[in-house]
Amino acid sequence: MIYENVHASEHPLVAHKLTKLRDQNTKPKKFRELVREISGLLAYEATRDLVVRPLQIETPLEKTDGFELQQKIGLIPILRAGLGMVEGIWSLMPSAEVWHIGLYRDEKSLSPVEYYNKLPVDPTVSVCMILDPMLATGGSAVATIDIVKRWGVTRVKFIGLIAAPEGIEHLHKHHPDVPIHLAAIDRELNDQGYIMPGLGDAGDRQFGTA
Ligand code: URA
Repeated sequence: MIYENVHASEHPLVAHKLTKLRDQNTKPKKFRELVREISGLLAYEATRDLVVRPLQIETPLEKTDGFELQQKIGLIPILRAGLGMVEGIWSLMPSAEVWHIGLYRDEKSLSPVEYYNKLPVDPTVSVCMILDPMLATGGSAVATIDIVKRWGVTRVKFIGLIAAPEGIEHLHKHHPDVPIHLAAIDRELNDQGYIMPGLGDAGDRQFGTA
């Protein structure tokens, strides 16, 4: 199936690293390293449309024309598994702001409930990148993007490592303007809400809590 506004990386480095990430024998330290590296590679692809403005600088030899990023970028990891994606992207864009939004799933309604949000009243960034390794049902991603758009940010991108078709469809239905950048699209969600074949619980595998 071809999805609109969805970019699944075809980069060999991403494919190689993702295979190691999926492997059940990969330990938390290596797992975190791979999450960081793949996130950086995906962000590199996801940021190719960022706007730059001209800038003149002097090399040791003469003046020359260059560019600098014009837009202020916000990174919004979805807690807790999204935390491991921050560093690899932040190292590419050290002037980005990192904002945290905490959501949990209400056991009765199964809807996401906000428990942490310290966003200031007015937006301080013009492009937001929502980070979550696993786009499973898409509930948290949709709720986070709802919050970010209400904050006033109109340009939003989603970066994840693996998505289930169900999560892509849910996110695309609610926010068709949000491009979805992924390392892979997997087969399906199982009855427990895990992506198949997936990689298991991305939070547990990063933080050693399995
Ligand atoms: N969250 C995870 O960590 N893994 C899944 O497979 C689905 C949601």
